[in-house]
Amino acid sequence: MKILLVCSEALPYCKSGGLADFIFSFSKALKEEGQDVSVILPYYNSIKYKFPETNKEIYDKFGFDMGTHYQGCTTYFYDLNGVKYFFTCMDRFERDGMYGYYDDTERFACFMMAVNTFITRHNDFDVVHCNDWQSAVLPLLLHYNPRHEIKTVLTIHNPAYQGWARRDDVYNFFKLDTNYFDSGYCRLNNCFNYLKTGIMASKKVNTVSKNHANELINDHLGYSGIGAIIDYCKHNDFTGIVNGLDIDVWNPKTDHNLVCNYDVNTYESGKAKNKEAILNKLGLKNDFKGPLVSAITRLSDQKGVDRLMQVFPYLKNYDAKYIVIGTGEKEGDFLYQSLPYKEVYFVKNYDENLAHLLYAASDFFLMPSYFEPCGTSQLISMRYGTIPIVSSVGGLVDTVHDMSTNELATGYVFNNSDPGAFISCFKSAMDFYLSNDPFIKKVITNGMTGDYSWKKSCKEYLELYNSITW
Ligand code: ADP
Repeated sequence: MKILLVCSEALPYCKSGGLADFIFSFSKALKEEGQDVSVILPYYNSIKYKFPETNKEIYDKFGFDMGTHYQGCTTYFYDLNGVKYFFTCMDRFERDGMYGYYDDTERFACFMMAVNTFITRHNDFDVVHCNDWQSAVLPLLLHYNPRHEIKTVLTIHNPAYQGWARRDDVYNFFKLDTNYFDSGYCRLNNCFNYLKTGIMASKKVNTVSKNHANELINDHLGYSGIGAIIDYCKHNDFTGIVNGLDIDVWNPKTDHNLVCNYDVNTYESGKAKNKEAILNKLGLKNDFKGPLVSAITRLSDQKGVDRLMQVFPYLKNYDAKYIVIGTGEKEGDFLYQSLPYKEVYFVKNYDENLAHLLYAASDFFLMPSYFEPCGTSQLISMRYGTIPIVSSVGGLVDTVHDMSTNELATGYVFNNSDPGAFISCFKSAMDFYLSNDPFIKKVITNGMTGDYSWKKSCKEYLELYNSITW
């Protein structure tokens, strides 16, 4: 099958969160299954300058008509270990960051129009697989493609981000009839909504865990009512497929960011050395007997930043240290609130290498999200022998086995609806660590030996593609 993954971020080129991990590891897994895989994404400045090998080969140059202007686009090509990467180079993406600009909906409209033209010019893809709002209108544009048999799939990685525009932008950005808005097809709360459009227009829609699929379809009020749209319009065409992890990249046995590699038999000494190294690197003393607790995250409300800050006063009772690497809209709050606590060290940065070392060095990883479609960090932490403490939402429920499952346990899952549950769960985890209970070894071993590979989920995606009929 010839598959095109359309996305706004992909490792190794750019990353703000789990979508970038998904594209890189999933495309690699599809390739290993013998599929012909291409990825297309915007050519951000950062890619152009950090990865000069990507601007050697111009694949195509074309222009296209947006509703209000004519746009030029150059497509660059790079073969990354058998996965074909295409980068759409346009003036709107010649900026430092990926998102967060006032004209994001127009920028990504431009991206989708470019990808639509690209597909029309190289019209041999069997599957066009879109991801999140930044590519969600593309399936509707493809309704006008002369080759009707293109299979379209939309994966929702985060339903909270939807792409909101105005009625007139249906034409201004996409040159589509505004009747799509007036009839309600792409209208939500009286705005043009990209994610809704994708849900309506794609052949299949999925999200990234079974539990989140259930949560979403049954939640008609949250996420601006997008769950109700899925329930009414795609009930039988909506599934959850849990994300895998790139087990080559995230492997404590070979990870070159660690000062000492380790496996399930050597994790105690290995983690101790990595702990020593990160403390040294950050100028911290190794003068505590309790656990090293960590979080590596976008600091947004979704991730439970308030909960991440609730633990501050308890750390000294357990002689614990707490290292957090994060950026985002709540970074100022986090920094300010952490100042009085010498047990807390906050790295206000996006640092991939340091993140690897911290996963390896920590004893516990906090992920108290309010919602989490799948989550990647809990998988990484389990693989690195770091016990996750997670809320009972989305993919966290599907991937972390709570202590109550006894022999199967891989971490702590606390009740998300109970306001006191996080702190009491945190305290039990700290007590458990300090008690030197031999069961801790079982929990860590279970986590480290779990199967987080793409094997099963990749098959499920292929079945999803194959299930599309006309
Ligand atoms: P989301 O995609 O919602 O942000 P995930 O748990 O799916 O959450 O993915 C987060 C990914 O981004 C993980 O690989 C995590 O290690 C990484 N990450 C998040 N923030 C940082 C940061 N400040 N520095 C390095 N890596 C980070």
